[in-house]
Amino acid sequence: MTHLEEPIKEVLILKNYIDGEWVDSKGNFHDIINPATGKIIAKAPSSSKKEVGEAISCAKNAFPEWRKTPPLARCRCLFRLKELLEENFEELSRVQTMEHGKTIDESRGETRRGIENVEVATAIPSLMMGENLEDIASGIDEYLIRQPLGIFTCIAPFNFPFMVPLWFTPYAVACGNCIIIKPSPRVPVSQVKLTELVDEAGFPPGVWNIIHGEADVATSLLESQDIKGVSFVGSTPVAKKIYQMCGQTGKRVIAQGGAKNFMVIMPDTDLDKTIPALMTSFFGNTGQRCLSGANAVCVGDDKFYKRFLDSFLSATSKIKIGYGLDETIQMGPLQSEEAKKRVLGYIEKGIQEGAKLLLDGRKPKIEGAYPANCFLGPAVFDNVTADMSIAKEEIFGPVACIMRAKSLDEAIGMIHKNPFGNAACIFTSSGASARKFQYEVECGNIGINIGIAAPMAFFPFSGMKESFFGILHGQGKEAVRFFTESKVVIGRWW
Ligand code: NAD
Repeated sequence: MTHLEEPIKEVLILKNYIDGEWVDSKGNFHDIINPATGKIIAKAPSSSKKEVGEAISCAKNAFPEWRKTPPLARCRCLFRLKELLEENFEELSRVQTMEHGKTIDESRGETRRGIENVEVATAIPSLMMGENLEDIASGIDEYLIRQPLGIFTCIAPFNFPFMVPLWFTPYAVACGNCIIIKPSPRVPVSQVKLTELVDEAGFPPGVWNIIHGEADVATSLLESQDIKGVSFVGSTPVAKKIYQMCGQTGKRVIAQGGAKNFMVIMPDTDLDKTIPALMTSFFGNTGQRCLSGANAVCVGDDKFYKRFLDSFLSATSKIKIGYGLDETIQMGPLQSEEAKKRVLGYIEKGIQEGAKLLLDGRKPKIEGAYPANCFLGPAVFDNVTADMSIAKEEIFGPVACIMRAKSLDEAIGMIHKNPFGNAACIFTSSGASARKFQYEVECGNIGINIGIAAPMAFFPFSGMKESFFGILHGQGKEAVRFFTESKVVIGRWW
């Protein structure tokens, strides 16, 4: 493909994918807008309760046969899907940039991370194996088998339109369940493109379904007694609501919420290596990552602080902003005008609360002739204190809050006062500091000289406190546990 080639050339009218067919929805349609160009790229429906019911009933019909399909045969569909994903890698990545705004390199990273989950799930014949022990009493044997449960639903956020559902869906179907995905209504195109490949990969009708819509569609799915479990990723208030609803209706649930991630910079760190890692952490994906850096806590004396701040500001002010399909661009727009408004609100709040705005991203220089609607440059606040709302709440945009601590203990104390517990990272050359950090910090994902502590597909995607509600996590072995019931058999033969 050439430099700025857009794979979506005309407005797509999105359909639901139910029972192996692309089905027109009778609901109202809304526009999906490329946040960089301002052009409409698709129209997505808000499905009705009846349409949700149809998806559930088809998945229910498909379950008995799919469950009986040997795991190795189920995996063959995943192997075919993996090949198709590789063949369409570039197009899938470009679609993400077009609907979300992230840079093409960030989209390629997202596609790769998604595919890795398909790869890990192809090991299901081994991952799903049970356990056994003979002679638990004289002549009696006991064994554990893992069985699929039925239909699961996956409710997705807007910031990783392609990857996040793949933290769950390949494991769900590989274990013998059927799945209904409700993509984010803001970025549904990537899941449609993925599902076109699912269709080609030969999954039996009804195993893998997609239904478009807003919160009401999610609620209809959650209310159904036929849905056995839910994997949700999104904001904390909705994660909490979904966790409660699943408690009331007896469903198993993974509910991943929002974040406010601290980056602790120790005076013994190598700043030349730390600053580039911090740039990607704070401003990659335009700050719209659940693993993004939000608060930078600089530990050390005035001299180190000045050196850190100068390097941080110098690197930040060089970030090139524009349309993510341009390979030279380092930061794309926010995903929507609404998202930009929210971030602007926090910048105002920070100023009112007395933080010092050292770099004001509100009037960014954009490379190329694109409307400014969703674009924002990086913003850097200094003199931020833990009680300010910009330090406490999730901004979800390219805003760095710089804070100071006298010691590592004080920095860890600041992390612990924050309600979120998604990720925290330390930059240091001291093994003792790093170990203390990983040992004490109450966050699910820890980075040591790593700015984005994103677990690989064979590790669980963790989270603590207000960032996670549940027990088992997405990805790898924990996902297999989530998508299967453990049955124990105790037997003796006369
Ligand atoms: P969101 O909570 O607004 O929406 C997420 C999904 O929930 C969407 O599909 C939406 O349609 C649906 N939804 C919204 N309100 C609902 C309701 N009342 N009942 C049922 N469903 C509802 O989140 P978002 O703005 O799309 O995503 C950004 C958020 O996701 C951020 O807070 C970010 O930190 C978080 N996130 C967390 C992780 C993680 O791993 N912890 C990963 C990615 C994103």
